[in-house]
Amino acid sequence: MAQIWNLLTSVLHILHPEAFVPQDLDFYVPQSGAHEFKEALHQRGYKEKEDQPKCRFYGDTPVAKVGHLYKVGISGSINLIITCSPNPLSVIVKFHSTLVMNVITSDGVLCLYPLLTLAGQGVMTRNTRGTRSCFLKYIFHGFTLKLQFTQHQCMSTAYCHSTMGSIDNPDVLVVPFTRRGSRESTLDSFSPFHWQVGKVAEDEKAIISLSIADRCTSAEAALVPR
Ligand SMILES: [Zn+2]
Repeated sequence: MAQIWNLLTSVLHILHPEAFVPQDLDFYVPQSGAHEFKEALHQRGYKEKEDQPKCRFYGDTPVAKVGHLYKVGISGSINLIITCSPNPLSVIVKFHSTLVMNVITSDGVLCLYPLLTLAGQGVMTRNTRGTRSCFLKYIFHGFTLKLQFTQHQCMSTAYCHSTMGSIDNPDVLVVPFTRRGSRESTLDSFSPFHWQVGKVAEDEKAIISLSIADRCTSAEAALVPR
């Protein structure tokens, strides 16, 4: 059974520890393992939130259900995202940018676009009101987001909108948690898996550059020491 426990923004936090401190954790679990996982959280004192926070961006991703859990005395909360697909990576590759296509599994850390992500850069895949507020958050924390993969030879590397990515491709960064763990053993439950990264539609590009330019000014203003 493919099983992944992804800590979305926290993964970026691990790769860029100085940039920001995450407020909550996102766990992505397939339907087959969801009940068991929720039980494990209940046993550790987590309770379901009655008042659901305002809808977060999951795009048109194949998500069956989203739950929010909290624990008394713990400030952050847990978002439990139950995926339709038995392989939760299918949701990760639909995220709004390559910057957040990173996961922590029970065996290690995976980063799908390490050359960009480790340099604090990402390529956007969609432009909606929800993604724009996410982009601003990342820009505010010092990350750079671009509309397309620059300076690349089309179809010759994974860093291209037209290339079909593969989890078994050496371009994917895999860091096993234990010395006994290997690249193969870490990827075992997710492989084979292929994806193609989305592209921001032409008519959305103008809107995105406008909104980011506008809001950056206020984000920079907020950084000025008081
Ligand atoms: Zn290309």
